[in-house]
Formats: sequence, structure tokens, C-alpha cells
Amino acid sequence: MTDGSTGDDRIVVALDVGGTGMKCALVRPDGSVAHAERHPTDAGRGPDAVVQTVLAVAEGLADRARAAGSTPVACGVAVPGVVDEAAGVAVWSANVGFRDVPLRRLVGARLGLPAALGHDVRVGGIAEARLGAGRDARHVLFVAIGTGIAAAHVVAGSAAVGAHGAAGEIGHILVRPDGPRCGCGRPGCLEAVSSASAIARRYAELAAGTPPDPPATDPVAVPTGTMPARGAASAADVAGRAAAGEELAGRVWREAVEALADGLATGQALYDVDTMVIGGGLARAGEQLLGPLRAALHDRMTFHREPRLVAAALGDEAGCLGAALLALDTLERR
Ligand SMILES: [Zn+2]
Repeated sequence: MTDGSTGDDRIVVALDVGGTGMKCALVRPDGSVAHAERHPTDAGRGPDAVVQTVLAVAEGLADRARAAGSTPVACGVAVPGVVDEAAGVAVWSANVGFRDVPLRRLVGARLGLPAALGHDVRVGGIAEARLGAGRDARHVLFVAIGTGIAAAHVVAGSAAVGAHGAAGEIGHILVRPDGPRCGCGRPGCLEAVSSASAIARRYAELAAGTPPDPPATDPVAVPTGTMPARGAASAADVAGRAAAGEELAGRVWREAVEALADGLATGQALYDVDTMVIGGGLARAGEQLLGPLRAALHDRMTFHREPRLVAAALGDEAGCLGAALLALDTLERR
């Protein structure tokens, strides 16, 4: 990836375009970040306006790099949804509104540079596998748990894309046939049970029909003053309440962890990886998630080798770094 020479002034422009915000950076060939900035996506303006913002921000970053004495050599863009990476087309995205946008061609033309387009979770997986928590492993499954659940299977630094650009959708593994209906229309998908939004929804549902716990004997253990109303609790709040010993939150958290372990066990049966890197918003719960998840996954292993389960290391910058790596890869192929 790096040419090892001193005085390498090459830099790549990288953007990770999400439903609410864009994480953008100038990244050196060794993966270090020279400059980072963020912009709102304002997806409500429609996909054409979002594309114009992407192009303007990318151009601004390239100008900034030149002004600092660097040479922009490529641009990488990550987007959510269905992405045809070979054709460089953002095929479909619920969050951003893209429909068949030839983003790679548009960015390449605007900047006059080679460009790459990737799927946000797949490039995030590439970044975690090469630079982050999976850097010591050859076979990595990166699992992002947030509003939804998606994964990237990365072998030797490259993520499988699939025949239709939809590899890694483990959020739609069936784990609870009689469970809640998923956004995809089917009941019982993993992300309908274990995503951050599913945890919050389940907790609100159960809390509505359950009286609150009696006041704790140890007032320090349950900081109720800082907790939102039960109906408005986020997954992080549910984790906090569970850690503080609230029975209902503990039950919701356990149910989510058990279902997640079922999904990951299926993932291990399919991919046989060394390391599973857990990222996304829910991973901020740290060992409160990973500890019980490790134990539940251990219980499900028969002849399969148990993977190492670790928290992601790059946080929400993984997608942006992965977009940069994808851009660097296009240079190597030229
Ligand atoms: Zn589904």
C-alpha cells in the first residue's frame, strides 16, 4: 500500500456518506489521516442535491490537499444501501434516497482523478480488518450493529461483494420465526430483534405494560435522575438500566444478546473466521455486550472453531478510512 519512500506527498480524498452526516478525510497511503471534516447530508433535499454536496465537498478536500502541498491521487466514496461496486453505481438507498446514481463516474469526472465507490459496511470491514481490531487476522467478519445489522466478510483485506452486491446481510438471518416483523417484511430477522432500534422498541413495548421496579436500596446503583422516560429509552439507556440491575431492561438485553449469538453462530458456520469485530452504535456498550455475547456464542459452538470476539477499534471513522483504502486499491490495480 505504501511505497515506503520518504517525502511521499500522495493523498486520497475519502467520503463516507450516511443518512444524516458525511464523514470526510484526506488520507495518506499508509492509512493515517491528514485532515478530517464532517458535513450534514440533509437527505431530505433529495438525491440530486446530496450528489452535488458530495461533489463539492470532494472537490474542496482535493483543493485543500493541494494548498497544503500534497498531491491528491484518487477519491473513494462509501454509501449505504445496495451498491454495484464493479459498475460504481449507488443502486438503492433508503436513507439517502439514491436510485441508480453513477457516483464513481461523477466524482471521477469532477475531480479528474481515479475514483472508487463502496458499500459503507463493507469498506468499514476492510478498514477494521486492515487497520483496526482485525489487523492480526486473515479471516474477519465485521458486524455493524446500529439501526440495522449488516456484516462484511473480509479475507486477506478484501470484502466479498456477492453476485448482486448484497453479501453480508446477516441482519436478515432468521433467528426468531415468531418474532417481530423486520423492515424487510419478514418476521423474526436478526435485526428485528437485536439491532439498537429493535432493543429500544422492545423495551418501550414491555415497559408500557409493566410497573417500574421498586426504588433501589442502593441509590447510587440506579441513577434514575439521568434516565429518560422508559418509553423513550435508547438501546444505550436499556444497557445502562440493565447494568444498574433493572429487571425488565436486563431481560430485553439478554433476549437481544441470545438472538445475536444465534446470528453470529450462523455467521461462523458460513464463514469460519478467526475474528469477529463488533462495531456500530451498540458496540459502545463494550464488555456489557461482548462478555455475555462471547459466552452465548461459546455455548453454540459444536465442531466449529470459536472466533475471537472483539470490539471495533476505528469507531465511526471506519467507513471513511475504508473508502480511502478502496481508492488506494484502485491505484494499485492501474
Ligand atoms: Zn429482514
